[in-house]
Formats: sequence, structure tokens, C-alpha cells
Amino acid sequence: MTDPTTGRRWIDAAAELTPETRLFIDGDFQPARDGATFDSLSPRDGRLLCRVSSAGVADVDDAVRAASRAFDSGVWSRADRRERARVLTRLSDLMLENLDELALLESLDSGHPIGDARRVDVPQAARTMRWYAEAIDKIYDEVAPTAHSALALITREPLGVVGAVVPWNYPLIITAWKIAPSLAAGNSVVLKPAELTSLSALKLAQLAAEAGIPAGVFNVVPGLGPVAGQSLGRHPLVDKITFTGSPAVGRGFLTYSGESNGKQVALELGGKSAQVVLADTGDLAACAEAVAWGIFYNAGQTCHGGSRLIVDERVHDELVERVLGVGRSLILGDPLDEATQIGAIASERQLERVLGYTDIARTEGAVVHGGGRVRPDGLSDGYYVEPTVFDGVDNTSRIGQEEIFGPALAVTTVRGAAEAVRVANESPYGLAASVWTSDLTTAHTAARELRAGTVWVNTFDASDIVTPFGGFKDSGSGRDRSLHAFDAYTALKTTWINLGSSALPTD
Ligand code: NAP
Ligand code: MG
Repeated sequence: MTDPTTGRRWIDAAAELTPETRLFIDGDFQPARDGATFDSLSPRDGRLLCRVSSAGVADVDDAVRAASRAFDSGVWSRADRRERARVLTRLSDLMLENLDELALLESLDSGHPIGDARRVDVPQAARTMRWYAEAIDKIYDEVAPTAHSALALITREPLGVVGAVVPWNYPLIITAWKIAPSLAAGNSVVLKPAELTSLSALKLAQLAAEAGIPAGVFNVVPGLGPVAGQSLGRHPLVDKITFTGSPAVGRGFLTYSGESNGKQVALELGGKSAQVVLADTGDLAACAEAVAWGIFYNAGQTCHGGSRLIVDERVHDELVERVLGVGRSLILGDPLDEATQIGAIASERQLERVLGYTDIARTEGAVVHGGGRVRPDGLSDGYYVEPTVFDGVDNTSRIGQEEIFGPALAVTTVRGAAEAVRVANESPYGLAASVWTSDLTTAHTAARELRAGTVWVNTFDASDIVTPFGGFKDSGSGRDRSLHAFDAYTALKTTWINLGSSALPTD
């Protein structure tokens, strides 16, 4: 499956790479105070890439204090918005100038195909940075409609120190969604990347310093979740946590907040997104492409991945056949091969978890297509699962309800739009959903009734920085992306000015 000619260039480049592995605190790279490190493995072949400094409680405290000092100094928080825009635009440019290195780090560390990392992850993260930089001097504050005797200004001020805790599935993109609006709004940031994928964040820190972000304003503290993540969540000088990851850890941050300073917590917690296909869907070939890519892209490690197919019995057979066909046509292989469309699962633990669901599906009586471990040619190890379809799934079963976070689609058959939407909503999650139909009224009505933060009609995963992204129900609170993200990283201030009788002095 792997073409050695296209893979060679990146394999050679990877051999030359010397990633930054130290913590970035107050403008400097430094080891952890106690010298601790953790191993960073590549899911491509399971081999050790490097040892990354592991932030302890004292390191996180250093980073938060540096962020807090920088905030109070005003060097960034009170800087002219155009200056912040200039620096963040420069950062965006530097990300694109370093596209190959960032993409290679992302691919090696996470298992994303190098082609996706170069075409999607790095450009999207850079665009996010630029978009918020360009937006920040175009947002106006408000004047409230008070009585004539007063002037009340409603202004947005940065919150202070933002702690960003991110997962491994889209390290750069999710990081950019959180840090771009935070920094543009004038906050200081402490970023805790996922243990599995810290390397692109450390490169970003280097580029941020080069772009001119002042020392202390942006800090990166790789480390273990229960240590570095928890101490950020409990730190009294952190004003907000913005988190993406699992529901259990997300809820843990609410506890940390409650037991410390009541800091704001925004949570994006994944999902079990339904792709609803009704009997009157016009183009089943296009629908099958979208359904398949909606679950198999990034080997299914996508928070809004369309992991449930709720399909009308009248189109079930044809659609499932087509989805299986698309799945078989996808090139699963070495992430460093430019031809690869489906790369690796991020870790051995996640691989075992995903494979475990194939056993569960069998126990629950589903018809299993695929679902096994595969090993691309030329690789001695690594974590790969073939595109998988579980057919005949009872939506209330574990396969129908639990987030697998792998390339596995659960198919449930229904009849009619009402049953389809009811079944789609029978989920603790509500991150995204799609509905396929050629009837306009059905499309609008279903879109209204689907309980999800994003609903797509006759497409899946169409998105852009201009629209908000986040969940209903157990999928969390808060929204990344769009101008609304500024609401998440600013506090409203009222300044009430008494004008008295409003009569001007005559003298
Ligand atoms: P996770 O444990 O929730 O990790 C997310 C982030 O939280 C990471 O930076 C992690 O650090 C940190 N963390 C872990 N335990 C913590 C704790 N006790 N206190 C503070 N921070 C902590 O997610 P995961 O283990 O990577 O994945 C588990 C499952 O979550 C997946 O199988 C998938 O179902 C779901 N998931 C969802 C998303 C999403 O986008 N919504 C993304 C990834 C995973 P470490 O990296 O050091 O653990
Ligand atoms: Mg890794």
C-alpha cells in the first residue's frame, strides 16, 4: 500500500528532525524543575521519537505566575489592538513559512497523514490565527440605552490568564481555536498540550516568540494530565479553562474550579454524531462519499465524527454497499506517504480501545464489516485499524451510544423522518448531526429538531472559522470559532457616568 517513492522524502526529513522538547515558560525553553520527562512515541511505527519535559506542579505555577505578571504589566493586555494584530498576523505567516516542519511534527506525533497535515492542519491553524488577528480591531463596544442623565459604556476586557487544555486528535487546529481568540483579546495563555502530541505546540511557542509575543504572554507546559492539567485547573491565578477532550476529564475541571477559585470552564467533550439519511435522498453516491469521509477521516479520531448512520430502510442496502465501497477504496498506510488517506490511531491504548469495540459489536449482534488491525507494507509496527462498519446496530446498545473515537460506523435502520430524528436524538451527546433529504421543509424541520451544536443538510463536516463549534447536552458547553469566541475570552464591564441634569454650564 505504501509507495516508497512518495514516502521517502518525509522519512528522510523525519530522520533529520530535532524537535524542541522543553517547557516554554516566560519566554524561555527550559527543562522541568525536577528534570522529569515522558516518552513521545510515533504511532506510525510505535518507536520513540524523543523525551519531552514533563511539567510538574512547580513548573505550572511558574508558567501561570509568568502569565499573570505579563497580564498585569499591560505589555500585551493593554497593547494597541493593531499591535496585537500585527504580531499574530506575523505568527500566522511564520506558521506557513514553517509549514513542512510543523506538518511533519504533527504527522509523526499524531499519526495524521502528512498530506492532511500540510493541506489541512497547518493551513487551518494559521488561518485561524490570522482571522482573529484581523478581527480584533473591527469589534466595537456598546453604549447602553440609559436615561438621559447617564452615559453607560459596555466594554469588553480580557479575562486575565487562560489555561488551554487540549487533546491529541487535532493538536494544532484545536490549539489555534483556543489561543488565537484568547491572545487577540489580550489575555495571557498557558497551554497544556496532550501528552501524545506536544511537539507541534512547542514549535508554535518558538514561532510565537519569533513573531514578537512578549515573554510570559504565551507559555506551553507539556505534562501528564493528572499533574500538569490538574494543577492548571486548580491554580488560583487562572481565570478560565478552555478544554477539549473526554467527558470524564472535562467534568473534572468543573470540580477543580469549584474547589479553587470558581474560574470559568468551557468544555468541548466529543460526541456520537448522527448522519441521518432519509428515503428521498437525491444523490446516494455523493451521500455515501460524505458518510464515509465523515467517519473515516483522521481514522475516526474526530470529536464530531459521524459515527452513527441512521438510515431509512428503503435506501439502507444501497447506501451501506456504497459506504463499504468508499471505505475499501481509501488508502490506509504510512502517515509519511503523501498518497496515504487514512493514517494511524494515536496510541496503542487507543488502538486497543477501538479494537475492543469490534468484540463488543459482535457480542451485541451487529454485522461486522472490517474492524481488524492492519499493518501497512514497510512498517514493522504502528497502530492501524481498517475502516469498519457495524450494521444492524440497536441505537440503545453500547455500539450505538458510546464514543469509539476510531474509524467505526454504527448503522441503525429506521423508517420515516420522524423516527430517524427521534433515534438520532437518543444519545447523551449533541455535538453535530447531518440530515440528507431532497425535501426543503423536511430538511428545515429536522435541522430544528436535531439536538446538536451543528446540523449539516446534504453534506457533512463543511465548516469554517466563521461559524461557531460546540455541543449540546453531554458534548459540553462553550463554543470555539467565529466572533462569538471573543465572548468566551472577555468579560463585560459597565462604566456608568452620571451626567446629572445634562445642562451645560452657561459660564
Ligand atoms: P482526555 O483524557 O480527556 O485528555 C484531554 C486533555 O486532558 C489532555 O491534555 C490530557 O492530558 C488532559 N487530562 C487527562 N487527564 C486529566 C486530569 N485528570 N486532569 C487534568 N487534565 C487531564 O482524553 P484522552 O485520554 O486523550 O482520550 C480519551 C477519550 O476521550 C477518547 O477515546 C475519546 O473518546 C475522547 N476524546 C475526545 C476528544 C474531543 O475532541 N472531544 C479528543 C480526544 C479524545 P494527557 O494527554 O496527559 O492525558
Ligand atoms: Mg505522540
